[in-house]
Amino acid sequence: MASIFTKIINGEIPCHKIAEDDKYFAFLDINPVKEGHTLVIPKEEVDYIYDLEDETLAGLNIFAKKVSVAVKKACPCNRIGITVIGLEVPHAHIHLIPIDKLNDMSFEKPKMNPSSEELAMVAERIRSFL
Ligand code: 5GP
Repeated sequence: MASIFTKIINGEIPCHKIAEDDKYFAFLDINPVKEGHTLVIPKEEVDYIYDLEDETLAGLNIFAKKVSVAVKKACPCNRIGITVIGLEVPHAHIHLIPIDKLNDMSFEKPKMNPSSEELAMVAERIRSFL
């Protein structure tokens, strides 16, 4: 069965898209740990990130780098934290999170639950810097 993220890529589940090319896709996390929390994924559905072919993995990181520049401009912060967890969704993804301090990266505190309108505004702001 297709992963949630494959359904998002295919437009079967809505998302707030940030960027897309033929191999990669970036969109806002529905329950961010920080405003601007973005997920970057390969379109190829592979669970574990290090099971991706080297070329795809390299391309994913390069695509994430471009997206991170726009996220940082849209959500001013000390830096963009980068993490891979993958315990919830079995489709490789990189989390890009605007952070000022270590705790901003914490997935143990309650996550945010912004409205679709709020997410749409953040996504629009990030896209304006791409
Ligand atoms: P992980 O697999 O790295 O542990 O976490 C998956 C992330 O995907 C979580 O931060 C979660 O909020 C996010 N997520 C799960 N389902 C959806 C969804 O349907 N849409 C979006 N935009 N994000 C999702």
